[in-house]
This record gives sequence, C-alpha cells and structure tokens, in this order.
Amino acid sequence: MLDLDIKTDVLIVGAGPAGLSLAINLGKKHIPCILVDQKPRSKIGYKPCGDALSPNSTRRLFELCGILQPKGEEISEDLASAHFRPVLGFELEIPFVSQTIDRLEYGQRLLKSLVDFPLIEIKHSHKVVDTIVKKNKVVGCKVRLEDGKKINIYAKIVADCSGVPGIVRRNIPETISSKFPKKLPNTEIIISYREIIETPKLHDYQYQMRIEYHEELPPPGYFWIFSKGETTLNIGVGWLINEKNKHYNAKNVLQQLRNKFFPDAKVVDGAGDLLTGRLPLYSLVADGFIACGDAGALVNPISGEGHGPALLSGFYASEIIEKTVRNQKYDEETLWEYNKKIWNLYGYDAGLGIAVHKLLNAVPFSDFSYLFERGIISQEDVDAIMISYAVKLPIAKKIYQGIRKPRLLIKVAKGILLAEKIKKISNNYPSNPDGFDKWVKKIKKIEKKKL
Ligand SMILES: Cc1cc2nc3c(=O)[nH]c(=O)nc-3n(C[C@H](O)[C@H](O)[C@H](O)COP(=O)(O)OP(=O)(O)OC[C@H]3O[C@@H](n4cnc5c(N)ncnc54)[C@H](O)[C@@H]3O)c2cc1C
Repeated sequence: MLDLDIKTDVLIVGAGPAGLSLAINLGKKHIPCILVDQKPRSKIGYKPCGDALSPNSTRRLFELCGILQPKGEEISEDLASAHFRPVLGFELEIPFVSQTIDRLEYGQRLLKSLVDFPLIEIKHSHKVVDTIVKKNKVVGCKVRLEDGKKINIYAKIVADCSGVPGIVRRNIPETISSKFPKKLPNTEIIISYREIIETPKLHDYQYQMRIEYHEELPPPGYFWIFSKGETTLNIGVGWLINEKNKHYNAKNVLQQLRNKFFPDAKVVDGAGDLLTGRLPLYSLVADGFIACGDAGALVNPISGEGHGPALLSGFYASEIIEKTVRNQKYDEETLWEYNKKIWNLYGYDAGLGIAVHKLLNAVPFSDFSYLFERGIISQEDVDAIMISYAVKLPIAKKIYQGIRKPRLLIKVAKGILLAEKIKKISNNYPSNPDGFDKWVKKIKKIEKKKL
C-alpha cells in the first residue's frame, strides 16, 4: 500500500439513491464503509430525471429500514392520476399514483442523514477510474481526486452504485466473472432528454402524469408530461436505441414537442442522460463485488422507473453484505442470495417492458389504434395488469375478435406469452451459481424471440 491508500470494509461507488440507501443501511448495521462520488457535495442528488417516484417504493423502504418518505420541500407534487395515450384520440387511465420530487433536496437529505453514522465516510469530488483486482477478486478501486492525484481505496466488498456507466463492473476482467456484461450494448440503452418548464398560466395537467406517443418520436419513443406544480412541468422524451432510431437527437425531438404543446413555456433546466432498457443483469455479484440500482440494470424498461428499485436494491444489498462481513466470506456464492431476491422482485416488470418494446418495434403505430378502437386492449385490461400483476388477461380471449388483422394479434399474443415466460423464469432463479448456466440459456432463448 502507498501512503495515500485507504482501507475499509465496504467501498460504495456512487452517491445516487442506490449508494445513499446502501450507505445508510450499512451505517445502521455498524459496518465501516467509504462512499465516493465524483460530484461536489452540494450537487449530490441532482440528476436529469422525470422526477416521478412512487410512494409505494418509498413506503416499502420506510417499512424495511425506517428511511422516511419524501416530505415537505422534497415533494414537488402528489400525482393523483396516470394517463397513457398510445394513439391520438384514445387514452387509458392507469391506476397508479406517484409523486414528482425534487431530487437534489431528497438526495441531500439522505446524504446529511449519514452524519448519524460515524463509521461511514463520505468522499465527494472523488472519481473512480478503475477497478483493482487481486487473485481473481475485486479488492478496491483507483480513484482520481480533484487535484489530479490518484489513490487506491481497498475494501472487502466493492458496491457499484455508479448508475448506467457501471464504472466498477466495466473494469472487471472476464476471468473474474463472465456472468454479466462489462459494458452494455447500445441496444440495451434508453436515450433520454428532459426539461423543467414554467408555463405562463396554470397548465392543463394538474396532479397528472402522462405518457404519450406522437409522430415526432422515433418508435419505440415516448413523451412524458409530469406535473411539478401549478405552472411547472417536467417534460421529456426517451427511446430504446435501435438501428432505425439511433441518429435521432433527443434534445431536438423534445424541442419540437415543446414548441407544439407549450410554445410559451420558459425552460428552467434541460439535460439528457441514459437509462438501461433491459432485464436486470443476469448476475449482479462476483467475488468482492455487488451491483445496485442502474449499475445492475434495474430500471423498468417501459416506465423508465429506476429510482425506487435503486433505493430498495441498496437496502437488499446491505442485508447480504452484513452477512458476508459477519461470516468473513466475500465470495460470489455467499452474495448469490441477492441475485435471487432481485430477480424475484424485478424480473417480471422488466419482462413485461421488454415485451412491450418488442411489440412497438414490430408493429406500426397505425396498427395500435386498431387494438384500442376495437376494445382488444381496454381500460379493464390495463387495470388487470396493474392490479393483479397477471398478464394472462381477458386479452388472450379477445384476440380472436380481431380476426381482420391476424398477424398483429398473433404478435400481441406472442408478447403476452413472452412476458409470462420471463416471469416464470425470474421466479426460478437458481439458488447457487451451479444452476446459472442452464438458467441463462433459458432466459436468453426467450429474450431472442422475435414477435
Ligand atoms: C432522463 C431520465 C428520466 C428518468 N425518469 C425517471 C422517473 O421519472 N422515475 C424514476 O423512478 N426513474 C427515472 N429515471 C431513472 C432514475 O433516474 C435512475 O434509475 C436512478 O437515478 C438510479 O439511481 P442509481 O443510484 O442507481 O444511479 P444514479 O442516480 O445515476 O447515481 C449514480 C451516482 O454515481 C456517481 N458516479 C458515476 N460514475 C462515477 C465515478 N466514476 N466515480 C464516482 N462516482 C460516480 C454519479 O455522480 C451519481 O451520483 C430517469 C432517468 C433519466 C436519465
């Protein structure tokens, strides 16, 4: 070790929701850790985002570990209804409540709460540039400081909470784990741009969140409008990158839509960023390594919801890390339980999202109106999906009503089947690394299926 090098039990890379939740929970368990983030302290929490955070996730987090739900200034608006407009002139209401939050305020509160835990050290303006590996184990990270100096931070476990870049994961050699990709391919990435806008008078979307499709968007793109106050909105666009849409510029597309729908609005903030658009990583652990939040690809590929999963995965990671620290075993096998938990929790939602993306890629928009106008997909069906978490639905029966477009309906039926299969496989995640190869073969086979 060099003079400047540091040693700890757990190194957490990234102080977004995943890293902050993990740090708080390790603090509660009296496990020493260092939390590093490349941002200056005052910017921790800020992130270009739709700002929607479901109270179901934060309530669950509170029940699990006592982290208080967003409150006061942290909440921009309580959203009472969610609307989905897949085609012009047709709208579904989704039984879903949410909140838009001020990410900086909420993130700063979580950060400040770490003062209660003397064993947690925060190092802001510290950029991780590489992963340190010894004897086929992850043992730390190389970190660049503000003045350009580099130090090594060694740990028994390194938690990658760095978001989409997955800075720790991407520097892990295949010899340690070939169970997850180092870098995600473009086709598993959602490109997105959002603006916070002020309207000159009360806008028409009070207490609402909306997701809409418009011709300006390349398929399978979406446009969101989330209310943040009487005259404030968060608007944005996003799409899973594919061969046909990779040259579209998200900022320009959003500008076109803003000019069309909110020509008099003032832009207060505008920024783009990436989301993952895939199933969770097949494995999120290796010897000395665990991934949480976006670094583990836990974003719901269709709703773009990743904040809640990031907070909750931080809690679940703390549970397994506690076990490894108490038993002094930091290997893949001991950490494996976390994989099973994550897949049981998020496999189905992600599967449904993947099915919808495949459908949007395979079917022209004009055909979608047909599905809704003929009542093949109705408000009741959406309620059934959201409430019962089941996709079998009356849709399967109704598909036969649409015999005039048999190919379209077969594709819908295939999409439903695909999500069902992913759900089944997610629930059968292997209990230890031995069953992994066989399980991956199954899930890859389903994922490759074209609609
Ligand atoms: C445009 C957009 C809109 C979105 N809308 C929503 C929404 O409405 N609702 C929702 O639930 N989710 C939404 N998401 C997703 C949500 O923002 C993420 O899922 C969530 O922030 C993931 O949290 P995280 O902690 O895993 O990662 P992040 O929030 O990305 O945090 C990662 C942290 O790691 C730090 N970091 C990165 N690299 C390094 C490095 N090399 N060294 C040190 N530190 C590093 C970063 O500075 C950052 O603080 C949206 C995302 C985008 C891009």
